[in-house]
Amino acid sequence: MAGRYIFGPVPSRRLGRSLGIDIIPSKICSLDCVYCEVGKTTELSCGREKYFNTDDIIDEFRREYVKEQNSLDVLTVTGSGEPTLNKNLAEIAGRIKEISSHPLAILTNSTTITDPDVREALMLFDIVVPSLDAATDRAFQAVNRPAPELDINEINRALADFTHSFSGKIYLEVLLVKGINNTKEEMAAIAEVIKQCRYDMVQVNTVFRPPAYSGTRGLNEEELIDAFLFFKDFGINVEPVGNFVKALSKGADENLPERIAALLRMRPCTVREICAVFGSEETAVSDIIEDMLESGLIEEKIFGTEHFYFGKAL
Ligand code: SF4
Repeated sequence: MAGRYIFGPVPSRRLGRSLGIDIIPSKICSLDCVYCEVGKTTELSCGREKYFNTDDIIDEFRREYVKEQNSLDVLTVTGSGEPTLNKNLAEIAGRIKEISSHPLAILTNSTTITDPDVREALMLFDIVVPSLDAATDRAFQAVNRPAPELDINEINRALADFTHSFSGKIYLEVLLVKGINNTKEEMAAIAEVIKQCRYDMVQVNTVFRPPAYSGTRGLNEEELIDAFLFFKDFGINVEPVGNFVKALSKGADENLPERIAALLRMRPCTVREICAVFGSEETAVSDIIEDMLESGLIEEKIFGTEHFYFGKAL
């Protein structure tokens, strides 16, 4: 069962070198974001369930953590969907913290933050990375394609309240989709919500990877800089996303093909990114990618000028 729940380490743009803990089956989410890199949501749901046996997650985490702990910056609870939909979130977080000494982060789309049980579970984390892509229903529907019962104003109010009661770090993430939520009106509405929040950092991101819905476009460099300056003008402590990438540790890796396969099952990557993750030579990675393409283990997709490689589900 190795590789069922734990993946990476991956170079998180937000957090550095991260060991991921995936606690939601693919692809259950309360949103169906047009930019999602995991793919279209197959089960659009706000219901919280005990999706997996916590012992299985923790056993695998313990094994992988022992191997990787010296090269990590952070542990990140995430999912092939929205991780707070796992009803065992508090138990999972508590047990990971008993075993490990690294900061524990969670990426959330913020939609469940209206639920007191979710807020209580989030208190166990050191870093919460909530998404804040929309502050109007128009943008929420267009970018995030939410479950029908979700109300963006209610979510954003609960998010702002949560940030003031949480003592860990809050890295708000705003993902801008060209022509939808990067207009001045939409960004101004988002900025107003940010100003209601207590945060350590706001990260402005865009569509860098192949999106779930074709036609979804990211901002170009100039537009990203414009957005960055727009938020700065609102007095917001915003950082462009590239600044979060930390230098990745290098080293030999005996099981490189297996680890590349595990990485690509979780996240599409370019050869350059794979090299960065594993500290490997480009020629070695290219040879492995070539073999994997030939044997049908992975697929290639060209997005912009970049060639991304996807692992197929087991
Ligand atoms: S980007 Fe996150 S919140 Fe949006 S559909 Fe994908 S998994 Fe869900």
